[in-house]
Amino acid sequence: MRIGLDLGGTKIEAVALDEAGQVAARRRVPTPRGDYAATLEAVAALVAGLEAETAKTGSVGVGIPGALSPATGLVKNSNCTWLQGRPLDRDLSARLGRPVRVANDANCFALSEATDGAGAGHRVVFGVILGTGCGGGLVVGGVLHTGPNAIAGEWEHNSLPWPEAGEWPGPACPCGRTGCIETFVSGTGLARDFREATGEAAAPPEIVRRAAAGDAAAEAALVRYEARLARALASVVNLLDPDAVVLGGGLSRVERLYANVPRLWQRWATSDRLDTPLLAPRHGDASGVRGAAWLW
Ligand SMILES: [Zn+2]
Repeated sequence: MRIGLDLGGTKIEAVALDEAGQVAARRRVPTPRGDYAATLEAVAALVAGLEAETAKTGSVGVGIPGALSPATGLVKNSNCTWLQGRPLDRDLSARLGRPVRVANDANCFALSEATDGAGAGHRVVFGVILGTGCGGGLVVGGVLHTGPNAIAGEWEHNSLPWPEAGEWPGPACPCGRTGCIETFVSGTGLARDFREATGEAAAPPEIVRRAAAGDAAAEAALVRYEARLARALASVVNLLDPDAVVLGGGLSRVERLYANVPRLWQRWATSDRLDTPLLAPRHGDASGVRGAAWLW
């Protein structure tokens, strides 16, 4: 049995997968924000609960915002500040009495979709989370590629490529720079763009609804969004030429992206044509926990 946990800023989700990859049990608790010791306890309680329910023991993988630094073994790049600088895998291993693997949450998403999701059967899969923030992960031949700095796939903090008038230097990014891809293609970025153009606050689902109902300003915001996402993904295709790109996060539910972005990204590709499939996720929000389970 494989146990996966998705440790987020507001909740910890946990799933037990049987040998066939089917869900044997699942649980969810609020994250003890700001409390590292309580977070370790919450993870241990979830694992114990799943094992009691299934009467089996499992391997344990955990997805987090951020990553373990290969140099120090400590959590880095995490917006969950109480995890930052902690030896999370070692502490969980000691608490659970077994080795525990910890990986970036976008990497877990990519691994889930590459293993038995939308990207299954493709050799090189680039997974992208388009949520409140943005993230990417790379799976090659069924194996997560993390790299010597554990930052593979973190293209969201590259500059938005081929910027147009008004896009440079661009909005401030949580990483401290400006004009990062994330500031444009995250849900937060879409909402900001709409607000700057209209003076009106609207969440991404509302913008999508309005555009579908014929609202010109909402439509224009989505057209800008699609063009930016196309450029951002074309830069990935030019570098990696993946066999498939899979979208995740809240904006992966916007169906028009799958038709419009591949129509646009060709223009930015170093190729006379692009046959790369842009795919909707199979497991959706469950890919975070599933990918964590597949770390073993
Ligand atoms: Zn950034």
